[in-house]
Amino acid sequence: MDSRCLQHARNREASTKPYNGSQSFPNARHSMSEPTTCIPAVNASPASAPPSGARTIWNHCAANCGGRCALRFDIEADRVTRVGSCAAETPDGTPLPQACVRGRRMLAWAESPLRLKWPLKRTGPRGSGLYERITWDEAIDIASSKLRDAIDRFGNDAVFIAYGTNANCTTARPFNRLMNCLGGYLSRYNDYSCAQATWAAKYCFGMKPDDGSSFEQAFSADLVIAFGANPTVANDGGANIGAQWRRLAKQEGTRIIVIDPRKTESIMNNVEWLPITPGTDAALVAAIAWELIQKNAVDLDFLHAYCVGFDEATMPEAFRGKHMSYHDYVTGEGYDRIAKTPEWAEGICGIAASDIRSLAHSIADARRLHVLSGWGPQRRSNGEWSAWAAMALPCLVGHVGLEGTSNGLYPWHHRVLSSSLPAGRNPVAASIPVFETIHAIEHGEEMTSENSGVRGARRLEHGIKYLINYAGNSLTNQHSDVRHSHEVLADESKCEFILGIDTVMCDSLKYADVIFPDLLRIEQQSQTSGGADWGHIVTGQPVPTHRDEQKSAYEMARLMAASLGVEQEFTLGRTEGDWIRALYDETREQQPELGLPEFEEAQRVGIVSVWRGPHVALKAFRESPDEHPLATASGKIELFSEAILRDTAGWELREGDTLACLSTLAPIPAYIPEWADAGIPNAEMPLRLTGFHDRARIHSSWGFDEKLKSMFPQVVWMNANDAAKCGIADGNRVLVRNHQGEVCLPAKLTSDIVEGTVAISQGAWYDAQHIGGREVDFGGCINTLTVYRPSPLAKGNPQHTNICRITKLKAK
Ligand code: SF4
Repeated sequence: MDSRCLQHARNREASTKPYNGSQSFPNARHSMSEPTTCIPAVNASPASAPPSGARTIWNHCAANCGGRCALRFDIEADRVTRVGSCAAETPDGTPLPQACVRGRRMLAWAESPLRLKWPLKRTGPRGSGLYERITWDEAIDIASSKLRDAIDRFGNDAVFIAYGTNANCTTARPFNRLMNCLGGYLSRYNDYSCAQATWAAKYCFGMKPDDGSSFEQAFSADLVIAFGANPTVANDGGANIGAQWRRLAKQEGTRIIVIDPRKTESIMNNVEWLPITPGTDAALVAAIAWELIQKNAVDLDFLHAYCVGFDEATMPEAFRGKHMSYHDYVTGEGYDRIAKTPEWAEGICGIAASDIRSLAHSIADARRLHVLSGWGPQRRSNGEWSAWAAMALPCLVGHVGLEGTSNGLYPWHHRVLSSSLPAGRNPVAASIPVFETIHAIEHGEEMTSENSGVRGARRLEHGIKYLINYAGNSLTNQHSDVRHSHEVLADESKCEFILGIDTVMCDSLKYADVIFPDLLRIEQQSQTSGGADWGHIVTGQPVPTHRDEQKSAYEMARLMAASLGVEQEFTLGRTEGDWIRALYDETREQQPELGLPEFEEAQRVGIVSVWRGPHVALKAFRESPDEHPLATASGKIELFSEAILRDTAGWELREGDTLACLSTLAPIPAYIPEWADAGIPNAEMPLRLTGFHDRARIHSSWGFDEKLKSMFPQVVWMNANDAAKCGIADGNRVLVRNHQGEVCLPAKLTSDIVEGTVAISQGAWYDAQHIGGREVDFGGCINTLTVYRPSPLAKGNPQHTNICRITKLKAK
């Protein structure tokens, strides 16, 4: 246990004291030898005495950022007078899920003029947004009868539940349960965030992409290297690592280097920025490996004991003598026969060879190296290999499984504590990568395991014919190539019926044939859990807001279940409130070591915090690899993956999916140049275009919020030197265009982005207008410009791999 953790343990003892009117739980344990405990969180009272009849209730933010933050509502005369949150931490240092500025806009969301009020039926073409009001009886009847018809004509595997992100709570998936009561549905795997890292982590460590060490471990490191991580923006909010990052940035004795094409807000205080050409992280790692090998600074004892594929001595039997190890790739003895020297990498990464050497020497000299990755670098055409390279880096010097280290994965966080509404068993075996959803509508019958990553079946029998889109905007706005998605979704002969469920009319919802208006989670009884070393459960009660005819998603699914004759199977006789309590009780029963309070007490205090850390990734494996083998094919860390070659044998590869010298996917964490037609600048499209997260939105959530839009305007970041070549000044409106589409935005000129690369934050709402026969997006949605081509291994989203041209718009 490092010193900070000791401090936490000591603080926990102090935290049992009554605080702000809350009381400690009698069954809480607080000894350092029993590291789990449960405390009541800050049940904060208003600074002054509340008027009589006033009350405070808690609920939670349900956005998909991992925060799961607590929201506090002060209420008088059944009206909310103030929206707040908890403190960032208790006085004794326990982190709490403090909401960010977006979460505090949740009431504004509830009261937005864009709020959907009653059920709607489409009257114009799909995408037109033309609807008429219908009754709930009509809406349930249409949605249910169309579902029955689709199942009867095509089978359950023609029904699909689209990717949705804005309903993180324990009862968030009622439509999955409904479908399983009806015989199942075509399921999906991956997500839009981290598909490439997911598969790289699986093959390298047999782990998940957020199976890094707790971020608290970084405080014990003397060198922290972060690939594309921007925790103070992408992971802000009390339950994430943003606050920890700010503390670390000020810590003396810890050198922190962020490798990123943009100088982000997290590059603060002592943090150093190492600017890199996007998509080239694996080349940088290869050059570091070269330098470490030349200086005999690789930890061969570690590599030989714990890893497969670093060099000839650790290659699988069938691949010995073929120069297929990572070592031979780096030294140029194998694969493309190019030595991966710092000079070689300089021309690719845009980092001076001397700086690469210097970084390698710092890594070699580090007492404790802590490597972590955000997920931006892996949302690329070569993202699986970029992510894998970041995982390989600490292994080269043996800095994994030890206090203070991490393994190149995202920090261990938001482990969900609570049980969730059981979806039941899905009898349909087939599943598709989520990024293939539009393809599965367009030509599902052509999709196979070899060409599209179909799992559980050799091929799909037909395309998606009935689609449920609940709390998601990834049919168009968050999916690549919006115009293409529009064409596919507008064709009613393909997907015959789309049921949309949401709170506001986002772009994807405009393709729904029938819309059910949803309640926000703050308007319902709800419960969620998240956190990291300190986990938390937030138990929410309904906040009084103006209601029209909205219903909860659970109630909608129940009504459809009743209409389709499976109500009892769906509900088991329970209301949603009954489920929330039962799921919480199940959590208490299954994890007695957490010492969770009774449900009533959890509801009274609003937030319950639970100590679960510290977590050192790969610790057990490092201590005893035979007793704790990894879930990889070899049980070891794999820097050469025979499993990738085996699992992808026969797959159809496209130009640029692998090294030019290979006919298979690369089985090592090599640098794969990005797709030439989508990721390498040329005379027609001279700039790289990448995306990022900003503070205005979580994905596309809050994309309609005018206040957040004015606080964080949508712009295109452009290096001042690039802008000068095009005669563009700061604030000029520019046209960003490529073969996918055109976006009109103000330019933000800055030296905080590498030359040759421009950047647009993701999630802005698509707002296309027709001008002179052209369709121009004035909303600034980056997916107007992104290419729809799945990444080679994960079949994930490569939305950061783009090229474009930028021109200044004339005044009018
Ligand atoms: S958007 Fe994320 S950080 Fe902000 S309040 Fe919601 S869950 Fe918390």
